[in-house]
Amino acid sequence: MKFDIVTIFPRMVEAFVAEGVVGRAAQRGLIDVRVRDLRSFTDDRHRTVDDVPYGGGPGMVMKPEPFVRAAEAIERERGRPGAVVLMSPQGRRFTQAEAARFRTAGHVVLLCGRYEGLDDRVREYLQADELSIGDYVISGGELAALIVVDAVSRLVPGVVGDGESVERDSFSRGLLDFPQYTRPADFRGLAVPAVLLSGHHEEIRRWRKREALRRTLERRPDLLTPDVLDDEEREMIREWKGDVEEGVGHGRDRDS
Ligand code: SAH
Repeated sequence: MKFDIVTIFPRMVEAFVAEGVVGRAAQRGLIDVRVRDLRSFTDDRHRTVDDVPYGGGPGMVMKPEPFVRAAEAIERERGRPGAVVLMSPQGRRFTQAEAARFRTAGHVVLLCGRYEGLDDRVREYLQADELSIGDYVISGGELAALIVVDAVSRLVPGVVGDGESVERDSFSRGLLDFPQYTRPADFRGLAVPAVLLSGHHEEIRRWRKREALRRTLERRPDLLTPDVLDDEEREMIREWKGDVEEGVGHGRDRDS
C-alpha cells in the first residue's frame, strides 16, 4: 500500500508516520509512505504556494501549479496512482467503507490544503476525489490525510498485530465493538461483568455479541440496517422486543 502526502508541513506529517502502528508498518515495508514538500514544486525564489483570492475577500488561496507539479512528479516516479485525494471539508465523508476502497486502490496521493483552501482548478485538472473527515473545519489537510493513512493501513494484512481485531473493530461489520475490560476485576467498586471471568467461551461469545448489538442500538441505530445482522443477532433483537412487551426483567433470563 503506497501513500504520497503533499504538504507545506512535511515534518508534521513525518513525525506521525514514524510512530506507532503506522510507523512499524512502514519499517516492516507493509506500507510505503512518502511525504512531499509542496514548496519544492514551486519555481520562484520565495517558494510561494499561495496568492490572494480572485474576487477579493480575506485570506489566501493555494496556487494550482505546485500541487499539479507534485502530482505529476509522483506519477512519473511511482506510476499512476489509484486515487488522488484532496482533503476538504466540502468532500465526501470519510468512512470505514471509503478506507476499504482506498485499500483496494493500492496507491493514494493525498493533497493537504491550508489557508482558505486550494484553487478549485486543482480538483478539476487532477480529477481528484474530495474527502472530508467530518463536518467541522480544521486549519490544514495534514491531520485529515493522516487519518486516512492510519485507517487504510490498518486494513493491510499484518499491520495490526492480531488480524482478528481489525475484523472486530467498530464499523468493520456495521456494528460497534463490544465493551472491553482488563485487570483489576474490581476497580473502585466497579466490577467486570461476571461472564467474562467465567471461562465459558460460548457464553462470552454470546455476551460480547449481544453487548455490541445493544451498544449499536443505543448509540448508533443508524448503522443497523437489516443486512448487517446475522440470524443470531436478529434473534437477540426479537428477544428484547419480547422483553419490552412483557415488561423488561419479567420471567426471561437475559443471561447478562
Ligand atoms: N475555506 C475552506 C476551509 C479551509 S480549511 C472551506 O470552508 O471549505 C484549510 C484546509 O484544511 C482545507 O483546504 C483542507 O485541506 C483542510 N480541512 C479543513 N477541514 C477539513 C475536513 N473537515 N476534512 C478534510 N480536510 C479539512
